[in-house]
Amino acid sequence: ENTIRQIAAGEVVQRPTSALKELLENSLDAGSTQIKIHLKKGGMKLLRVIDNGCGIKVEDLPILCERFTTSKLRSFSDLQSVSTFGFRGEALSSISFVSHLTVITQPRGSQLAYRAHFKDGKLLKPRSQQNGQSQEEASVVPIAGIPGTQIEIGDLFYNQPSRLRSFKKTSEETNRILNVVRCYSINNPQVAFVVTQNEKALPLFKNKKTNQFGNSLKRIAEIYSLDVKKCLFKLQINTLINNSFRLKLEGYISNLNYCKEEKEAHSKMPHFILFINKRLVQNYQMKTQIMKVYKERVKTKGKPFMFFNLILPPECVDVNVHPTKKEVKFLHEAFVIDTIVKNIQKLFSNGLE
Ligand code: ADP
Ligand code: MG
Repeated sequence: ENTIRQIAAGEVVQRPTSALKELLENSLDAGSTQIKIHLKKGGMKLLRVIDNGCGIKVEDLPILCERFTTSKLRSFSDLQSVSTFGFRGEALSSISFVSHLTVITQPRGSQLAYRAHFKDGKLLKPRSQQNGQSQEEASVVPIAGIPGTQIEIGDLFYNQPSRLRSFKKTSEETNRILNVVRCYSINNPQVAFVVTQNEKALPLFKNKKTNQFGNSLKRIAEIYSLDVKKCLFKLQINTLINNSFRLKLEGYISNLNYCKEEKEAHSKMPHFILFINKRLVQNYQMKTQIMKVYKERVKTKGKPFMFFNLILPPECVDVNVHPTKKEVKFLHEAFVIDTIVKNIQKLFSNGLE
């Protein structure tokens, strides 16, 4: 049973970034305004996320890593109303099957923080009691802390040696992590993000005056050190699709000036960033169709920059897609993509570039 769950968990958590995305989304769901990420060995040795969100109730801790139980999904009808992808109650459970998971949390209104260790979906006894008789003893330990939650993933894939061996380059995992955090920071400009490795701050933004709040555009400007006013134009859509549901989208697309500036550096940056209902995802269809329109219009070499924050009614997004699949499916995909493509064409024909 544990072996099966371990294999399944290894599919949910494929590398440090997949775990990180889950932790970031939980922290954002908890209303955090400050999220710190600490790494050792590109997140393989240690991946710790500290937030200042609402915290986890102490009575929820014992079942935190049991599958599905902690999910915001309390009843089937809630399925229609969850607005984020955080409905599965599967992430922390999966992570506990492939790492050493420690949670420290201080819920709002509590004077104390609580610490708990998890393994294979279960709360572990505190070290001193593991071999003793007091097996039934509560194993959530009160400690001094600060409001918010700290989730620590240690020794990722310690029990999956072949998986572990496939991660040779710390620097590659570190870069992947930085890019994921950059994307989330653009989509959540009200939140301050910090990444450190071995206690040293890593450059999330080009500009040293990091974490300028305000809007996505400021974040893009910091990350890519671009004159965004000259380089990007804004796409905003709020429309009824197929007479049945609302599509909202905010995005930025680069123009010709961007391609000129772009030559200098950022070739390794992700250039097509797509969030659907707050989750960083991929959608091959959307990407290829938008790229096609772009290339027809902007006949310059160099990769374009595109960022989209798409909001669809939750019931339109396929909830059955396994979390491992970055590729997301949604209803009326053709209509949605078509609407976006038409709006981009309109933007171009207005001559904004
Ligand atoms: P899901 O997000 O799908 O519910 P997870 O396994 O990701 O499942 O998380 C389980 C639950 O733990 C969440 O529903 C949430 O209640 C709680 N939780 C996890 N991380 C945090 C956090 N950083 N702050 C507050 N609550 C959290
Ligand atoms: Mg979650």
